[in-house]
Amino acid sequence: MTKDIRVRFAPSPTGPLHIGGVRTALYNFLFARHHGGTMILRIEDTDQARYVKGAEEYIMDALQWCGIEIDEGIREGGPYSPYRQSERKEIYAQFAQELIDKDLAYYAFDSAAELDLHREEAEKAGTAFVYGILNRNNLNNSIHLGMEKAKELIENGVPYVIRFKIPENQDVMMNDIIRGQVIVNTNTLDDKILFKSDGMPTYHLANIVDDHTMKISHVIRGEEWLPSLPLHVLLYQAFGWQAPQFAHLPLLLKPAGNGKLSKRDGDKLGFPVFPTEWINPETGEKSMGYREEGYFPEAFLNMLALLGWHPSDDRELFDMESLIQSFSLERVNKSGARFDPDKAKWFNQQYLKETDDAVLAHLFAPILESKIGKPAPQNLASIVGLVKERAIFVKDLWEQASFFFIAPLEYDEKAVKKNWKEDSAHIMLELKDILSAIEDFSAENTELIVKEWIAAKELSMGKVMNAFRLALVGASKGPHIFDIIALIGKTETISRIENAVEKLSNN
Ligand code: GLU
Repeated sequence: MTKDIRVRFAPSPTGPLHIGGVRTALYNFLFARHHGGTMILRIEDTDQARYVKGAEEYIMDALQWCGIEIDEGIREGGPYSPYRQSERKEIYAQFAQELIDKDLAYYAFDSAAELDLHREEAEKAGTAFVYGILNRNNLNNSIHLGMEKAKELIENGVPYVIRFKIPENQDVMMNDIIRGQVIVNTNTLDDKILFKSDGMPTYHLANIVDDHTMKISHVIRGEEWLPSLPLHVLLYQAFGWQAPQFAHLPLLLKPAGNGKLSKRDGDKLGFPVFPTEWINPETGEKSMGYREEGYFPEAFLNMLALLGWHPSDDRELFDMESLIQSFSLERVNKSGARFDPDKAKWFNQQYLKETDDAVLAHLFAPILESKIGKPAPQNLASIVGLVKERAIFVKDLWEQASFFFIAPLEYDEKAVKKNWKEDSAHIMLELKDILSAIEDFSAENTELIVKEWIAAKELSMGKVMNAFRLALVGASKGPHIFDIIALIGKTETISRIENAVEKLSNN
């Protein structure tokens, strides 16, 4: 029987979720859904000093906006509750004790001042201080002092930490699904702290205890955790537990490819690095979010999915269902993925084009109403349908379609020079008469009649149409002219012709 697939996304609430974190959550989610497994959200808040108010809510809300569903977590509950590490303190203390009892960990009493001194001395000697195999027998700990003395100190309230006793000269073999086999010799590792003097476990202990007790089958996380893997594997061995499988995801790189995309890059480089807007609770400083910039969550996720994973062909557009179907960890790259803000926009544009006109009209209506100060017209979906090709975001629809709602007040100078000739006023007035007489003002019918008239009068099609467009739009842009007039209607069309004749002929 294959083991149930259970994965977790385990962020620390030290601030908003970076898009790299969203990608990690996404890959976990896709992997879980692909295999019919379970997706867990665990909040790793054991580092009280770095705790940021509101970050936990932010993370959960942002994942929800993205459409990354959580099966077990703080909001959802689940069989391995609680899912917040600060509420699991007692569990970790027990396991730290187990390692002490097995002589695989020890108490250390070295004060911050003592450790600083060791560091200074090492620096003077041109080396770096490493707490571990070579010096632990001489430091202020239960190995050096003896267990009896150590217990006495603890009883007297002397602060202590618990350190892991790294075994000597052992090759740790690790298998990473993305990177293959990695071997590290224990002599290169230090005796990491597992349990802190504040009664909290460190990340390392809490992380592996939880992954084990929550029956996690696959640990999928960022590459920055790869250096911790030997320690984690040794901890699994120390407890006598079977380790989960590991997959370390490649870094997200800055657009120029020079280094990791950091939380601070976004506002500096002009694009969001957070899924949704974040307001720093201390400074009130705002950071942009993809949601507020106008991205569709589906487009945002599609873009993220392809930063580090590639399908078997060169297809780029994937909805969630097809991502779930196609995703595999074997197709995740080893090397970093360069983030491209223009590509992000491209994805949004593709989704906008594919979105149903009625849905777009619904999304655009509040923006439109705030601009024109009255309810959106009934035919908004048709208008949106005509201009959506030129928009990246819903908010761009205003720029592309404003002339449908507001008659030109001014006329683009260049377009006037090019398209409004001496006889334009005369031709436009004739055109006005032709249009006035048309009963069926559909695009097909007006086009047929106007073109017949142009042909009969042996006028230049371009000349008539360019001047007509200028009168309707105020510039030489916009969709098919007869579609425009069908939507703004006969009265408005005629009024715009009259206006243009009046304003442009006096020049
Ligand atoms: N709490 C760690 C983080 O913030 C989780 C690392 C892991 O997934 O093991 O990234």
